[in-house]
Amino acid sequence: MALYVQKFGGTSVGSVERIKAVAEKVKGYRDQGHQIVVVVSAMSGETNRLIGLASEINDDPTPREMDMLVSTGEQVTISLLAMALQKLGVNATSYTGAQVGIHTDSAHTKARIQRIETDEVRADLADGQVIVVAGFQGVDEEGNITTLGRGGSDTTAVALAAALNADECQIYTDVDGVYTTDPRVCSRARRLKTVTVEEMLEMASLGSKVLQIRSVEFAGKYNVPLRVLSSFEDGPGTLIVAEEEVDTHMEEPLISGIAFNTNEAKLTVLNTPDIPGVASKILGPISDANIEVDMIVQNVAPVGDRTDFTFTVAKGDYKKTRKILEEQVIPELGSGEIKGDDQIAKVSLVGVGMRSHAGVATKMFRVLADEGINIRMVSTSEIKISVVIDEKFMELAVRALHTAFGLDKDDVQQEG
Ligand code: ASP
Ligand code: MG
Repeated sequence: MALYVQKFGGTSVGSVERIKAVAEKVKGYRDQGHQIVVVVSAMSGETNRLIGLASEINDDPTPREMDMLVSTGEQVTISLLAMALQKLGVNATSYTGAQVGIHTDSAHTKARIQRIETDEVRADLADGQVIVVAGFQGVDEEGNITTLGRGGSDTTAVALAAALNADECQIYTDVDGVYTTDPRVCSRARRLKTVTVEEMLEMASLGSKVLQIRSVEFAGKYNVPLRVLSSFEDGPGTLIVAEEEVDTHMEEPLISGIAFNTNEAKLTVLNTPDIPGVASKILGPISDANIEVDMIVQNVAPVGDRTDFTFTVAKGDYKKTRKILEEQVIPELGSGEIKGDDQIAKVSLVGVGMRSHAGVATKMFRVLADEGINIRMVSTSEIKISVVIDEKFMELAVRALHTAFGLDKDDVQQEG
């Protein structure tokens, strides 16, 4: 007998039929004798609908009222799921975040979980009940309802699994696991059997939306076995594991996945003085405007003391950043002009195998060169190499790299 925390996302509880199907699935596990805590999101589209209602009334609502509002979506699904389970003869009880003792700080709309009380949940579980918990929400010291940020139900589930020392936290979603890359871009993408916490963190921060980043951090910190799997079809999904637990007898793949996004833009300050303090003079006013900078490249001055400085920001911040550079930075630094491009893509190879293998970057650059793709910027970390290329080459780059690094479906033995 095991203790599972099972989380079902918005699409998995998106209609009455689907809620009934989730109840059947949960009942199946319960009938096998397992103890089950279920965490649910709001029905798909519901949180956005509620946010839309708020904006029709007040364009600057207080975060406290926003939390009061958006937390209601999950309250609908917990009660409906508990009813569906009861209808199947399963003893089930639903709880809000506050009722189940999920205590957070008071940072409304992005609260952090501080502690979870588990005594009552454990007693209910021992009593044979299925516990249904509202994801995404908690309660602060003063008793205010808080929420954990968009996608926060994943974090509720992992945090509960950690607090209860569950055997596994299972995230049921509309895909059947974590893929080597987005199958919509590369039809040869395949599901990963396992992926390490760090790889998952890189992929999530690079734009893979399978899991909320915070939930992966939580799983890593508290060593929660975390599995992503489909709520619509049976299958083993993808297990997210600590790097130490990766089976060392198996030949480790060099690259586990390819992430990409087209939501950045790049800006270059040309012909800027190459003296101490320049980077902070360029980027200072930008961070003062709350604009986040991602990649940064500064060339060494080829001759003399002038150089170029290039960086990327979110596409949505492109115009604003350009304006700051033109109005504040250039006059102060006495730099030349600004060059910008918002038709770029960032393509990244992710894999812990890079730690022990040299030459990944060289191979990546060669593959791109063979396709005639020019690399505009490069950045690396211990387990990731990212390049910026022209947006129009993104799909070609992803497919070519997927094949070159042996990630294609047919290249690897399928699991039985
Ligand atoms: N319902 C919330 C959202 O849409 C939380 C979640 O789905 O995890 O962001
Ligand atoms: Mg989600």
